[in-house]
Amino acid sequence: MIIAIDGPAGAGKGTLAKRLAQTLGYAYLDTGLLYRAVGAKLLAAGIQDPEPAEATAIAQTLTANDLANPDALRGEHNGQAASKAAAIPGVRAALFAFQTQFATHPPNDAAGAILDGRDIGTVICPDADLKLFVTASAEARAGRRFQELQQTGDKRIYGDILKDVEDRDRRDSERETAPLRSADDAIAIDTTEMDAAAVYAVALQLVERLRKRHSDD
Ligand code: C5P
Repeated sequence: MIIAIDGPAGAGKGTLAKRLAQTLGYAYLDTGLLYRAVGAKLLAAGIQDPEPAEATAIAQTLTANDLANPDALRGEHNGQAASKAAAIPGVRAALFAFQTQFATHPPNDAAGAILDGRDIGTVICPDADLKLFVTASAEARAGRRFQELQQTGDKRIYGDILKDVEDRDRRDSERETAPLRSADDAIAIDTTEMDAAAVYAVALQLVERLRKRHSDD
């Protein structure tokens, strides 16, 4: 069983994917971390606007070690750097095999894999058993981020966060290679007016329905 979850930053994909994976005992891959690791390495080398060759070279030499500290990769500066690197076809090509291998041969012989990102249903796993496209308005996503940051004592203002969200949406949707878009056969979940528990309940029902259909076949 392969479950693909795509959508823009801050829509709740990661929270949903993690919770589903826990309940179902499936392996989970946050594919954004791969692009973030490339972005972080570029920033560490002092490169803000990478040339395709330098970003591709970094993506080609990424190792498990580069993903060992996911929390360090999560900040918005790494998100923006990831989104610049992610527009480069060579970077996407370099990260392709790792993702498809994870989906088809999940670690620890798990019975299924859940991948979240931007192009999972369209490019990485076009034959996924279930595709979800999780969205929310830019304002709702920026508002959630604003609240998270306030709790950690971060003083960024809402307007700046909204601008970051909109910049990243634009870059991710307008790039030529594997732009953020819903697969034709994906089921859309708009989380603007939903909390995480409600999103999880809807998604779990879809998975259970699918599993029942598989076991009836
Ligand atoms: O999901 P996350 O915010 O961690 O992703 C960071 C960036 O990585 C995204 O803004 C996007 O540009 C890129 N990305 C991508 N394809 C994926 C996952 C992430 O292009 N499958």
